[in-house]
Amino acid sequence: MASASVGLAVERCVMRWIVLLAFFLCAHASGDEGIVEVLLRSQQSRLDALPLAPPDSDAVRTLQSAFSELLHFNGVDQPVELRVIEGETVAETLRGRVVVANAALAQQPHAAQLFILAHELGHVVQGHQEEMGAVFQKWVPGAVVQEHTDAVAPMLGREASGLAHRQEFSADAYALRTLCAMGYERDDVVAMFLRMGGMHQATATHPAGAKRVMALRVAPLDEAPAVASVLARAH
Ligand SMILES: [Zn+2]
Repeated sequence: MASASVGLAVERCVMRWIVLLAFFLCAHASGDEGIVEVLLRSQQSRLDALPLAPPDSDAVRTLQSAFSELLHFNGVDQPVELRVIEGETVAETLRGRVVVANAALAQQPHAAQLFILAHELGHVVQGHQEEMGAVFQKWVPGAVVQEHTDAVAPMLGREASGLAHRQEFSADAYALRTLCAMGYERDDVVAMFLRMGGMHQATATHPAGAKRVMALRVAPLDEAPAVASVLARAH
């Protein structure tokens, strides 16, 4: 995979909340389904549609091994799985506990694999799906009705976008802490982030790459990922 494609991973590792917002505002929710159920169902559809890489391929073995290394190193014992896929998606987290990564990531250096997978794991252990779900629930507390969601969409979109950006910084910091605890130098992690094409413009779900680099340069390293994951589970 070209480095520009991996840059996409940095840019769009994505909890696709904003995209999903547009999706469900256009879709018809069935019966008196709540907003969180609609979002989870949408993510399940997306998950079902992603083409899996051949399970006995080297790429799957490489990435599953890197992911296991992270789970073991950080003492993660909550439900989480990695699905190695093909196609255009590079990496993302769905349903709060399914990390998806493209088989092409296996062609990248081990440290780059660890950073991208650790970033996604950060979304999982820090409970970002639940946190974002609570924002949606706040703005759409009852059944999903088109007229109501249309009315609150601008405010919900703004708040969800702000939270999505904070979650990206938080997942980056988790990945940084993890790699530094594993023995990598902060400067090397930042250089790798830049090499992967991290200097992108801001989007609804992701802060500008320059801000993420600045944050990586100053993020404290003293919060152990294992502790963070315990705290996330406690909420
Ligand atoms: Zn992310």
